[in-house]
Order: sequence, then structure tokens, then C-alpha cells
Amino acid sequence: MIITEQAMESQEMKAARSYVKEVYESVISRNPGETEFHQAVKEIVDSLVPVFAKHPQYMHRGILESIVEPERMITFRVPWVDDEGKVRVNRGFRVQFNSAIGPYKGGLRFHPSVNGGIIKFLGFEQIFKNSLTGQPIGGGKGGSDFDPKGKSDAEVMRFTQSFMTELCKYIGPDEDVPAGDIGVGAREIGYMFGQYKRIRGGHEAGVLTGKGIVYGGSLARTEATGYGTVYFVDEMLKSKGLSFEGSTVVVSGSGNVSIYAIEKAIRMGAHVVACSDSNGYVYDKNGINLATLKRLKEIERKRISEYVLEHPHAEYHEGCSGIWTIPCDIALPCATQNEIDEASAKILVENGVKAVGEGANMPSTLEAIDVFLAAGVLFGPAKAANAGGVAVSALEMAQNSMRYSWTFEEVDAKLQNIMSTIYRNSVKAAEEYGHPGNLVVGANIAGFLRVADAMMAQGIV
Ligand code: GLU
Repeated sequence: MIITEQAMESQEMKAARSYVKEVYESVISRNPGETEFHQAVKEIVDSLVPVFAKHPQYMHRGILESIVEPERMITFRVPWVDDEGKVRVNRGFRVQFNSAIGPYKGGLRFHPSVNGGIIKFLGFEQIFKNSLTGQPIGGGKGGSDFDPKGKSDAEVMRFTQSFMTELCKYIGPDEDVPAGDIGVGAREIGYMFGQYKRIRGGHEAGVLTGKGIVYGGSLARTEATGYGTVYFVDEMLKSKGLSFEGSTVVVSGSGNVSIYAIEKAIRMGAHVVACSDSNGYVYDKNGINLATLKRLKEIERKRISEYVLEHPHAEYHEGCSGIWTIPCDIALPCATQNEIDEASAKILVENGVKAVGEGANMPSTLEAIDVFLAAGVLFGPAKAANAGGVAVSALEMAQNSMRYSWTFEEVDAKLQNIMSTIYRNSVKAAEEYGHPGNLVVGANIAGFLRVADAMMAQGIV
């Protein structure tokens, strides 16, 4: 019997598809209830079918079943005493997911929604994101169900010290390097660094990133995730002869990612009309006033609803999803996972959105992504579009190792270069594996290949 090349190919695709299905089903049954983790795995494995078809050696070596299993998962008790003298107990997590290309690297999230499944989805995403940056960093993530909202400074300090007293046993500049994420910013990193240093008795600057500039932090780390997202979206826009100049932009969130995405978009000539927090959103048709936003959120730690007290012409609306009903050219979801569902995606498309850049981790549901791709919207997936933060974290580690620091301009130039390289590599991988223009597939494949090759080289470990 003569088997045509096409039939051979489809046989290989079939084998790859059934391998992927088997691994995905086992992830679901072995990690019950962890829906966000299942979602993150599903997005990756669907993209990888053409990779396994083309390179069956990854299948034979069980790379996929290894990569979906964390190398180590740590869960611990975090007891602390509140300002009233009452004992409180939170839960701490660190998932050390994959160290094939470098020490575990990824942020810590303090938010009441944190649980094992959330940390695993974030850690899993981090493997591919970190690989995409081209830097030697593995994937990790951690955090706690502690809610910093409404806590005093002293309470935050006592909690973070207790958290680090346990976490310090598992981290180090060459082992695992945490940083910030939702609920963990400069203040929390400072307290954690202080506690780590006290316990270890040495100044190991490279154990955490996102540090203050005066004790080993990198210039431009604060801005990096938001700026990086805008640089990435700018690359997508340029490919279609578009730009931020004169565009109407909606940015969800009002944390670190959102604020600096807004800042860079404004500097590129965009008109940013909305932002939000977990209670509601602000629509300011004159353009969001960045100075007010920064003061409210970075200094006063207030709710976004207070914005309209200073800018009475702006509107405040309770609830978050309404932000996606505001007509815009560019949408930058920079708040949290699954904030854009299918219905919101459809409204964005109906209103003529041209580009979506994910500043948060997994902000679009799988159904929402399908809506954007089917409508031909330029879609920058989180792993690629928000990789600027961790990329500059890796530059912070490099500066700590050199005991030297680069200027803001030097770091920013490296960040721009990294973001455009991620864009080009994702475009190239998408094309090479039969999905031209699909950056979800492109980023997943480009991120996967580096880690898979390192795992192949290192044997079954
Ligand atoms: N939490 C950020 C992220 O999701 C940054 C992690 C880091 O700098 O290590 O990528």
C-alpha cells in the first residue's frame, strides 16, 4: 500500500492529538476541581498538537506528562497576630514547577481567592512565559489567601515576616526567586527581603526581585509589565499599519500593571478612557488622569470610586465587566484571570476593537479567545504580552550577580528588545506550525520548545 505524504501527516497528527488528549484527561482526573489549572493546560496542549506531530521524540520521552506535573509543591501554615491581638491563620503556597532552563522564577500573589489550583495555573503559565523571554529562568509561583486590603502596615509586616519565615527554607538566588504579583508590591517585597536577610544572615540580593532601588532593585522593574504589554501591542499594531497614536484605549485594573500600561499608552499618543478595580470601573471621556490614579492607588491605597470625587465629569460604575462595553480600539485587560468572557469579547468585537493585549495572567476565557481570533482581532496572549515584568526581573538578577546597575534607559531598551523578540518568535512559530497570525499558538510553541529541548538534554529527572 502506498501511503501519501498527506496521509502520513494526518496519521502523525492523529497520534499527536490522541497523546495530548490522554495527557489532558489525566491532568483533569489527577487535579480535581482545579479549573483554572485545567484551563491553562488546555490552552497549551491544544497548541502543541502540530509540535508532537512534527517531533514525536517529545512524545516518546513523555515531555508533556512531565511538564504538567510540578517538580515540587509546598503548602504551609502562616500564623500571625492582628492589631487586636487575635491569632489569624492563612495558607502559604509555592509551586516550583519547572527548573529545566533556570532557577524557579515567578511572583507571589496575596489575595483571598488564592488556592492550590490558582497557584498551579499561574506557575504553569510562568514556565512558558519565562522561556519566551529568552532568559535562563524556570517557572514558579506562590502566594497566600491573605487579603492585604484593609490591613494596617504593621499587620502586613507581621504577616509577610511569618510567610517568609517558612518560605525562606525553599528559596535562594540559584534555587527559586520570587517577586510580586497581585497584592504584593514594593512594601511586601521589602518586608520579605528584610526577614530573609535576618534569617540567613547575609545580603543575598538575588533572592527576590522587584526590590527597592536602594537595596538592589532594578530601575524600570516597576514599569516593566505595563510598558512591556504596550510595546508588544505596538508590534502587533505596526504589522497592520496601525498605532496607539489617536486610539481609544480601555485598560482594566488599577494596580502596577495597569498604571504603567496607561502611562506608556498615553505617552504613545493614546486616549485612555477607563480603568477599574475589583469593585467597579471609571469612565473618563477626557482621558484618565494618571497623576490622580497613581496617588489614589500607589500612595493612598484607596478605591477607584474616589476618582470621581476629584474628576466629577467622570462616571463610576459598580461591577467590573461593564468596562468592556465601552467602545475602544485597543483593550488591555490588566486586572485578573477570566475577566473577559465570551459575552464581553463579543461586545468588544461588535464595538470594533482592533487589538487586545493581555497584561494580566489569563484574563480571557478560552471562549473569549476564540471570539477574538475568529473576528481577526490582533490578540496578544498573556504569556507573551505580559512577559516584560519577569523579563526585567531576570535583568534585576543579572545586575545583582554583577553587583552593578544599569540606567533606566538601558533597562528600558533591553525590555523593548525582549518584547519585540518575543513578538517575532511567536509570529515565526505560528507560521512554521501551520497557524499564521495566531499568537496564542505561536507563543505557546515558542515557549514550549526551549523548555522541552532542555528537558530532553537533561534526561528523565
Ligand atoms: N508576577 C509577574 C508575572 O506574572 C512577575 C513575576 C516575576 O517578576 O518574577 O509574570
